[in-house]
Amino acid sequence: MRIILLGSPGAGKGTLAAEIERKYPVAHISTGDIFRENVKNNTQLGLKAREYLESGRLVPDDIVIAMMEDRLREPDCEKGFILDGFPRTVPQAEALDRILTELHLELDGVVILDVNEETVVNRLSSRRVCRNCGAIYNLFFRPSAKGDLCEKCGGEIYQREDDREEVVLSRLKIFYEQTAPLVDYYGKRHMLSRLSAERSGHNHSLLEELEEAVGISE
Ligand code: AMP
Repeated sequence: MRIILLGSPGAGKGTLAAEIERKYPVAHISTGDIFRENVKNNTQLGLKAREYLESGRLVPDDIVIAMMEDRLREPDCEKGFILDGFPRTVPQAEALDRILTELHLELDGVVILDVNEETVVNRLSSRRVCRNCGAIYNLFFRPSAKGDLCEKCGGEIYQREDDREEVVLSRLKIFYEQTAPLVDYYGKRHMLSRLSAERSGHNHSLLEELEEAVGISE
């Protein structure tokens, strides 16, 4: 299975990707998680990306593309992958086409999670993430059974710097300007399925809808 999950911040890409990964043998590739991990560890990549992440702006295409060139060539991608947060611009989508052609791979589909702006702002203001393993929680819809600690690994749960309301609004603006054009990019090739992601929390029916949309099953 090789799919792209598109959608605005807070659409639920990460939560759905984690559900897919639990059910299918695929690599869940979240560019946001990779950047956050690099920022945390003060790597060269992290130093380049930090200011963009904190302000909610997109990391420049050349940096993201170079990172994904390497990531998609790693052996775990042979079993398939879900791209969560990449591509986010038309040049990134073009680069992905080139990389997949070089690797002789084809996508099974591109899924966009549709959600309205009010839902996003509400969701992100109550989203919490594990600093250690990246597991996603929500104070209201999906709290951790261990309170401030992650259910899965015991790590500290925190609010992402870029989930503050003022940053969320500028991330949404960037999404509409730079990422929304990908709907046309993939739509023209008849690769795109739209799913409504208005409902909150872990949602098995959304996974079923995705399975049907891209024609995959166990
Ligand atoms: P996310 O966790 O997907 O919301 O991503 C968090 C942040 O990482 C974004 O606001 C960007 O600063 C950066 N980022 C993640 N993916 C990309 C991408 N494909 N292109 C540029 N920046 C990205």
